[in-house]
Formats: sequence, structure tokens, C-alpha cells
Amino acid sequence: MTKSLPFDEATVRAIAEQYPTPFYLYDERGIRQSCRQLYSAFDWIDGFKNYFAVKATPNPHILKIVAEEGMGGDCSSLPELMLCERVGLTGESIMFTSNNTPASEYAAAKQRGAILNLDDLTHIDFVEQQVGLPELISFRYNPGPARSGNVIIGNPEEAKYGFTEAQLLEGYRLCQQKGVKRFALHTMVASNELDGSFFVETAKMLFDLVAKIHRELGIRIEFVNLGGGIGIPYRPEQQPVDLNAVSAGIRELYDELIVGNDLAPLRIVMENGRVITGPHGYLVTECIHHKHIYRDYVGVDACMANLMRPGMYGAYHHITVLGKEDAPHDCCVDVVGSLCENNDKFAIARELPRIESGDLLVIHDAGAHGHAMGFQYNGKLRSAEILLQENGETRLIRRAETYDDYFATLDFGAFA
Ligand SMILES: *Cc1c(COP(=O)(O)O)cnc(C)c1O
Repeated sequence: MTKSLPFDEATVRAIAEQYPTPFYLYDERGIRQSCRQLYSAFDWIDGFKNYFAVKATPNPHILKIVAEEGMGGDCSSLPELMLCERVGLTGESIMFTSNNTPASEYAAAKQRGAILNLDDLTHIDFVEQQVGLPELISFRYNPGPARSGNVIIGNPEEAKYGFTEAQLLEGYRLCQQKGVKRFALHTMVASNELDGSFFVETAKMLFDLVAKIHRELGIRIEFVNLGGGIGIPYRPEQQPVDLNAVSAGIRELYDELIVGNDLAPLRIVMENGRVITGPHGYLVTECIHHKHIYRDYVGVDACMANLMRPGMYGAYHHITVLGKEDAPHDCCVDVVGSLCENNDKFAIARELPRIESGDLLVIHDAGAHGHAMGFQYNGKLRSAEILLQENGETRLIRRAETYDDYFATLDFGAFA
């Protein structure tokens, strides 16, 4: 099974001449297509919006693309708010979904007019005392034992996020007494979920709550945020989530539970990162060594510091060896980086073509939670990010780190 690429070997070799490997390559056309597919699937919802999860790909050039496609930003820290601000995303184009939030970050979010999405009941008083309550407030719901999660996000019952149902009701009542005028409801219970019915169930769970909140408190919820977490087919045999089917399932429930209970209009929003940029980012790395001991190893010039998902979650990332797409895949190898950590492996016992030093390997589906999770352990430097623009030209959107960057925070004054 293979996965196709939106560029050929010559294009990547030309880029590699200018910018040394390893580097990230993003495909603008693909990112825009993902945005449009999501928006077209939910076009029946007046005011549907995806707040792109900034943590997935925190680069202003990428944020500008998704903002041009009508997306907002989902932030959970001040630097993420600052990134959004630089590309013109402020006010209610920002959902501030933070947790364990310091007062200074609430202040920064409120100052920018972002929608505050509180993670805990005690944060109502905290926000009121520290920065004052805003006119619009959202709460994050944790359904606990009512839902099961998955390997990345964990089970809701063991997750640190959100309010219990009883706390939600108490929170809305409290905020109403304190003069808050507008209310929203959020949840995020899945990560990299490929089963579309999961999102339909999440919508049902929130629609039921919206009805209950109205019944018990007389409060109308203005919008629900179904969270992010739409999965992508990392493995070539997997299928993407059928967004149109998810949308149709949600629409049926909306008609029954929202329109049917006279609770319309209720806006629906989401905060996906992965499904937007994930499939359209690639880590390009060069083979530099071979090693044959108890197993056969291919050593590349990228490592887990550039992409930690395989090492951290055992995640599968497809690998294409440029120019050898059609060669027999008859070598069983581990593809490894140079970190002094044995889980620094991009692939384990993978059938690949015979790889020579100098071959370029493309690691697929690295466009979300890829470069962003990078780190400097072992003196590794974060790589460059390059955008393959719609017009076919490439643009450096983040330079590679240098040794000076690495040493910048150290004080060498005593060692001169
Ligand atoms: C990480 C995160 C997202 C985005 O998740 P994806 O898997 O990239 O869609 C959305 N919302 C919250 C609260 C998150 O923590």
C-alpha cells in the first residue's frame, strides 16, 4: 500500500540544495482543501466555524492560510494568542481553551476579546477576581464515565479537563447571577478519532445538555463546541472520516433535539487541528547510515526531536523513499534517529525498498503535532519549515535553529 505525494523527487532535491535536511514541507493547496471540505460538510449550520488548534502547527504563515479560509484560532497559552494576533485573529475569532490557567493569561485573553472557555468551576471566581467576568462565557464539559476516550487523550474519567455535569449546571447558574449574558458549551473527548459516529454521539451528548440547561436554568446556550480530534488515516489502508456523513448525523439530531425543543438557533463550532494540516505536512530526511546487528537499521539525519509521535505514542507514520516508490519493498528495517534513546525510531520492522546513503525519505502526515512537539534534548536543533505554495514556489516559513539559538539562554560569562 502506498500514499501519494503532492511533489516529486526533483522538487524536493532542489529544496534540499538550498535548505539542508531535515526539514518540514507543507502543502498549501492541501491545507486549503481540508479547510474547504470541513466547511462544505457543515454548510447547513449558520455560523459554523472551526477554531484551528494553534498548538498543532504554530506558524503564522500556516495560521494565515487557515484564517483566510474562515477559521478562527483555538489557543491555550499567551504565545498562541500572540501568534493569532499577528495574523489578525482576535476577539471572538479566538477560543481560549486553556487549563490550569495563570491569571496573566486570562487577562491577556480577555484583553483580546477572546472567548474564555473555563476548565473548572473554581475558575469562575478566579476570573471574576483577577480580570472580571466577560459578557460571554464557555465551559468545558468532561463526561467522565459516560464516554470512553482513546489512547492519545485517555479516558474522560481519568482526564484532568473540564467540569462534571453537576458543576456545569452550578457554573451557569452562578454566572447568570453574576451578570454574564451569553453562554457556550464545549467538550473535547476524542483525539485522532477515525470513527465518525463518535462525533455524532458527542453532538447528541451536548444537545441533550443544552436542553437540560434550558429546562433547569432557563439559560439558552448560544453555541456548542464539539472539540477537535477528527482523525486522519496515518496508515495507507485507513480511510479518512466521512465528514458529510458526520454532518448528516448531527443535522438529524439537531432537528430533533434543538429545533424540536425550540432551542434553535444554536451554533455549532469545532476546534480541529490535525485534520486540517496533518496530512499536508512532511518531514524530509536523508539516509546517512546503515547498521546490521540483530536487526537492520537505516539511520537518518532527523530524530525524535523533530517528530516525537512515533517514539511517544508508538504512532505509525508512513515513509516514502523518493525515487523508489515502485521498487520492491523487500527490506525489513528500523528507521532510526541519533538521539540517545532507544525509542528514537520512525519505523520499526517496516518493509521498505533498499535504501542507500543519500536517499531522501519523506515521513508523511507530520503537518500537525509534528514540528510543534519538537525539543532540544541531546543538543538537537529544531528544523526549518518550508511552505510549498499554491503557485508552486517554496517559501521558508521558519529557519532551522542554530547552535547560537541553542546556547542563547546560557550564561557563559564566567567561562570567557
Ligand atoms: C489539541 C486540542 C485540539 C486539537 O486536536 P486535533 O487532534 O489536532 O484536532 C482541540 N481542542 C483542544 C482543547 C485540544 O487540546
